[in-house]
Amino acid sequence: MSSRLDLFIDRMVSQRACLDFAISETAAMTGPVFELGLGNGRTYHHMRRYVENRDIYVFERAVASHPDSTPPEDKVILGDVRETLPQSLERFGPVASLVHADLGGHNREKNDIFARFVSPLIEPLMAPSGLMVSSDRMYFDTLTEVALPEGAVEERCFIYRR
Ligand code: SAM
Repeated sequence: MSSRLDLFIDRMVSQRACLDFAISETAAMTGPVFELGLGNGRTYHHMRRYVENRDIYVFERAVASHPDSTPPEDKVILGDVRETLPQSLERFGPVASLVHADLGGHNREKNDIFARFVSPLIEPLMAPSGLMVSSDRMYFDTLTEVALPEGAVEERCFIYRR
């Protein structure tokens, strides 16, 4: 059985491998990138470093990130994603080239219930060919699961394509 340290390292390594793959696969797209869950801001910082020519909007209920990893105010969509995702569909339409969700905590059962709830809120925001990267398994009707890139660990990260 893996230790908590093993699981944490696998998650971090997988996040980076999946994000790098998804950023590269969607590089020709112009629609915005959505980061769901800012936390400390590490994955936001990574995306800001490597995503070119696309806006990155961050969905977070309470911003408490590292100062180097804090998005500008006009790119923060503050509030509970259960409310801000439907509002964003009205605001943006189905335009997201890349959505990254890392909203979960330590309780896998709770994370799964939450993933089931937010999947249908994320799905209509995706542009055709857009990619969705998640730390939890998602439940989409029209998005297809994509094979993980080299370096990512099965079950620690998931990728879906519209
Ligand atoms: N990927 C981030 C990083 O690299 O630092 C870590 C994200 S952290 C695991 C999860 C974040 O999701 C927390 O900051 C939490 O406040 C946010 N979050 C969880 N549930 C949320 C919800 N329903 N609405 C908005 N934000 C939420």
